[in-house]
Amino acid sequence: MERCQKCNSEKLIPLVKIIDKEHYNSEYSLEVEVLEKPGGLPLFRKSHRGALEATICG
Ligand SMILES: [Zn+2]
Repeated sequence: MERCQKCNSEKLIPLVKIIDKEHYNSEYSLEVEVLEKPGGLPLFRKSHRGALEATICG
């Protein structure tokens, strides 16, 4: 069982979608973008994107 890192509670709400304010009525979740080789030429940088998900402590 996962616990809250702050208060050690077991009452967690997992996998909550974080919706961007501008897209609150759509299916868009807030995303993070991670670049490979930071500092390299921008043209050759690969990026990886993923939706942010939150776990909320009850
Ligand atoms: Zn907590």
